[in-house]
Amino acid sequence: DVAMYAAKRAGRGHFRVFTPELDTQARDAELRRAVDNDELVVHFQPVVDLHGGERLAVEALVRWNHPTRGLLMPGAFIDLAEETGAVIPIGEWVLRDACRQAAGWRATNPAAEGVWLSVNLSARQVVQADLVPTIRAILDETGFPADHLVLELTESVVLQPDEQTVDRLNALRAMGIGISVDDFGTGYAALSYLRTLPVSVLKMDRSFVTGIDTDPGTYAVAEAVVRLAHAYELYVVAEGIETDAQARCLVEMGCTYGQGYHFARPMPGPAMAEYLLERGSAPVAS
Ligand code: C2E
Ligand code: MG
Ligand code: MG
Ligand code: MG
Repeated sequence: DVAMYAAKRAGRGHFRVFTPELDTQARDAELRRAVDNDELVVHFQPVVDLHGGERLAVEALVRWNHPTRGLLMPGAFIDLAEETGAVIPIGEWVLRDACRQAAGWRATNPAAEGVWLSVNLSARQVVQADLVPTIRAILDETGFPADHLVLELTESVVLQPDEQTVDRLNALRAMGIGISVDDFGTGYAALSYLRTLPVSVLKMDRSFVTGIDTDPGTYAVAEAVVRLAHAYELYVVAEGIETDAQARCLVEMGCTYGQGYHFARPMPGPAMAEYLLERGSAPVAS
C-alpha cells in the first residue's frame, strides 16, 4: 500500500517510522470512521431446529463494506477492534442495526415473531459499566422485545467474570434477554460458570462438528457436550454444520438446534426477511 511504498522509497533508514503501533492506530482510526460513516453491514444466519428445519433464531454477523477493499469478514478486523476497543462502538452499532432490522421483520411478518435474534457481544463490551442501560436504550429505540434477544458471549468472558459482570449479566437476564456461550468447548473446560451465570444457550463450536461423522472421538466429545447442555437444561446449538451426514449425527445424539452452511449461509437483511417469509411459521421460543 501507499505507506509501504513511501517507506521503501525513503530507504531502510526511514522504515522504522512505520511501526506496528502506528499501523494499529491508523487501522483503528479507519475502523472507527467506518462505524461513523455507516460502512458496516449486518448479515444474518438462521439457527434451525435440526428435526424439522424450523428456525429458532437468526445470528447477526458484522461485515465491513470497505470503500476500496470490498466486503470484509470479521476475521479481517474484529481482533484489532477487540485490541483497541473499537469493538465497543462496533458492537453497539451492530446491536442497534440488527434490532432495527429484526423489529421491521416482526412488524411485517407474523412468522418472524417467534424468532430470536442472537448478537455477539465482545469481552470488552461486557465489562462496560453502562452495558445494561446502553442495551436497554437500544431496545427502547428500536422497539425490539428484550425476551427475543440473545447475547452471545465467548467462554473467555464467562470463565472469570468479576462481580460487576455477573451483576450485569443477571440484570440482562432479568430483562428477559438470553445469554449464550459461543464457541463452547474451545476454552478451558471449567464448567462451574454454567451454575453461577444466567446462561440459557450453549453453542457447540464448529471444531466438534467437523469430523463428527468420520471420527469416533469427535462424535463422543460432541455427544458429551449435548449431554452436559441437557443436564444444565440449556438449549444446545451446533455450529458450522456443512453436510447432511453431520446434521444426522447431531440429531442422533439428541442435539436439537444447528447452524451452518448446510442450512443457509449468512445473508443480508433483506434476503433474511424473504427467507423468513418463505419458510412458514416459526416455533414460539420461551
Ligand atoms: P461466531 O459468532 O462463532 O459466528 C459463526 C461464524 O461461523 C460466522 O463467521 C459464520 O459465517 C461462520 N459459519 C457459519 N456456518 C458455517 C459453516 O457451516 N462452516 C463454516 N466454515 N463457517 C460457518 P463470521 O461471520 O466470519 O464471523 C466470525 C466471528 O467473528 C464470529 O464467530 C464472532 O466471534 C465474530 N463476530 C461476528 N460479528 C460480530 C459482532 O458483531 N461483534 C463481535 N464482537 N464479534 C463478531
Ligand atoms: Mg456467535
Ligand atoms: Mg460461534
Ligand atoms: Mg465458532
